[in-house]
Amino acid sequence: MITNEQVLNAFRGVIHPEMKRNLVELGMVKDVAVEDGEVTVTLALPFMEIPIKDDLVSSLREAVSELDSELGTEVKLVEMSQQERTEFMTAAEGGPKPAQSVNRIAHVVTVLSGKGGVGKSSVTALMAIVLNRQGERVGVLDADITGPSQPKMFGLHQLPPVSKQGIIPAETPGGVKLMSINLLLPSDDEAVIWRGPLISSAIKQFWNEVLWGELDYLVVDLPPGTSDASLTVMQSIPLSGVLLVTSPQDLAGMVVRKAAHMAQRMKAPILGVVENMIYAICPKCGERIEVFGPSKAMHMTEQLGVPFLGRIPLDPELSRCCDEGEIELYDAELFEPIAEKLVERVPALKTPPVFPGN
Ligand code: ADP
Repeated sequence: MITNEQVLNAFRGVIHPEMKRNLVELGMVKDVAVEDGEVTVTLALPFMEIPIKDDLVSSLREAVSELDSELGTEVKLVEMSQQERTEFMTAAEGGPKPAQSVNRIAHVVTVLSGKGGVGKSSVTALMAIVLNRQGERVGVLDADITGPSQPKMFGLHQLPPVSKQGIIPAETPGGVKLMSINLLLPSDDEAVIWRGPLISSAIKQFWNEVLWGELDYLVVDLPPGTSDASLTVMQSIPLSGVLLVTSPQDLAGMVVRKAAHMAQRMKAPILGVVENMIYAICPKCGERIEVFGPSKAMHMTEQLGVPFLGRIPLDPELSRCCDEGEIELYDAELFEPIAEKLVERVPALKTPPVFPGN
């Protein structure tokens, strides 16, 4: 007669193909019961949609049939809670990292767009600046590894010092903490041509090894679209929510809709949508020109059922400040009501994330 313990031991031989640890150790096997010639196992997945779901189920079935070919197997699938997911990621990485035990980050807001060039990085920086001016402790994690632009906008170039406990983020003159792959590259123009898995591991490393200390907000600039890197961030960081940036040029917001669905699937709440580059003002006559066509965001947000936070016009002064590394000098008054609405949404949605090691 095969016992529960024997089955559990057999499952210790089932290795997660990506995490390289066994499913029991990763906290994925929640329950095992052997009864009437059948094993019932509850398998907890970080997200229901993970692509290797079927492989994991077959591996469990195989492990049971190797133990006793007469035994049947029923696998019940459940989704991990946020707390379990965080523990899963920690176990996958072999325990909490030193930085995680000193970091206290109340809210993590990631900024996402459907495609590049709509102003996602500029909005990330503006959000950080406005919150910082309001006295909040703010960090910016430039996770847009394929096109890292935060250091350039803030005019930072120095190599971040590394202590025994981790990497010390750079600090802008205004006091925003900043970490970006660009700070670690020999020159600003060095292209980062990395493949998905490498990008994912770089982001995880940033998360695990940067010493942010105490922050009220960590604003994360994600790569555009629904790439591997965006998924990694959403899966491995306890997010408070996602801010979507769009422009009227985004074809009826189709790509943004895709990004919004990804966020919803990953259980990251959408805090709202910002529509950028909505109009330009003619310097001669003051007329508003809708360069990329009329606004579509209001309609799109209604369809998606997410809040519309506001619009930003095309402003040559903003692009000059970005180009010259002086974004902190930009008068971001227009952005204040947007930040205010976002902040209102953050605590209402989530209690501060629980970090492994806290
Ligand atoms: P993304 O991160 O989506 O690729 P960026 O924030 O890097 O986009 O913006 C792309 C370019 O457009 C940058 O040169 C930036 O300075 C400029 N830009 C973004 N938003 C505005 C705006 N509202 N007014 C003027 N220039 C802008």
